[in-house]
Amino acid sequence: MIDFRSDTVTQPTAQMLDFMIRAKVGDDVFRDDPTTLELERIGADMFGKEAALFCASGTMSNQIAIKVHTRPGDEMICHENAHVYRYEGGGMAFNSGVSPKLVNNPSGKIEATDIADMINPDDPHYPKTVLVSLEDTANRAGGIYYDINEVERIYSVCKQNGLSLHVDGARIFNALTETGVTPAEYGQFADTISVCLSKGLGAPAGTLLIGSQEFIRQAIRVRKVFGGGMRQTGYYAAAGIFALQNNILRLKDDHLKAKRIAETLKKLPWVTRILPVQTNIILAEIDDDFTVKNAINTLQQNGISCLAFGKNRIRLVTHLGITEEDMEYLENLKI
Ligand SMILES: *Cc1c(COP(=O)(O)O)cnc(C)c1O
Repeated sequence: MIDFRSDTVTQPTAQMLDFMIRAKVGDDVFRDDPTTLELERIGADMFGKEAALFCASGTMSNQIAIKVHTRPGDEMICHENAHVYRYEGGGMAFNSGVSPKLVNNPSGKIEATDIADMINPDDPHYPKTVLVSLEDTANRAGGIYYDINEVERIYSVCKQNGLSLHVDGARIFNALTETGVTPAEYGQFADTISVCLSKGLGAPAGTLLIGSQEFIRQAIRVRKVFGGGMRQTGYYAAAGIFALQNNILRLKDDHLKAKRIAETLKKLPWVTRILPVQTNIILAEIDDDFTVKNAINTLQQNGISCLAFGKNRIRLVTHLGITEEDMEYLENLKI
């Protein structure tokens, strides 16, 4: 089976495993796991921020960020297709008592002008708008990235109105690979950033939450409350360090493969449209009569696994486990 379900399915390579077992570890709840502290230092420095915190998952990292940025009853602006809204089990309500104000911009991204119109006036009838969350790359929009100038405009509207900006950068390095923007340039325009190590970067688990010293101090408390204070995390952190040092440049290769897959899928009679492929995600629309279920089964029978994504789409994601032989197999398939 060639596994295109997600870039989370990657297996650690032999070199990564070797690096992991050599890690020096300690008790991270006492904040004395040297490898975890080193990973956090590397992540914070990359994005030009004061501090970072290793979290169990991207969901945990986003949820901690929302908790620290808000008070119960507050409101957060995000896109209606955002992971923080759709795929985190209602966490913003469950954990933080926060309601969403949803942007429905058809681009799948939010724009500075969307936000300006949505911020509530200071009136006790309304929830207090305190936070904006943007997702880069935007998963449900097909892995498209933000123009840094738009991020700057969004940040500037936030600052003019006293709001915080959180970036759900689960796949931020896929975005930066294409735009050529450095993490430090990007970091200027966000208060906090969540960066997954376990997606395209290929680590087995873990996400970094990056922000100011004071923000991370509070985040450590929330992580503990959420049950995310772990002990010898250095083994996982080592995988994260290895990933940041070795697996960023190769993301370009995933993006080239994604474009090739789009070309191949386009030829199938039951694929009606492919959304623009900018990074490592391919969204293909399936003919209503053929159905998504048939599309997935047909691919499955031919050794290819992928996911249904909404009622008329399938999603394929490239990652470091997809080999050139896999690509040739796919390109020569007779379906
Ligand atoms: C994967 C993902 C997350 C976090 O997912 P976890 O499975 O909890 O690590 C957050 N945001 C986006 C956009 C994602 O794609």
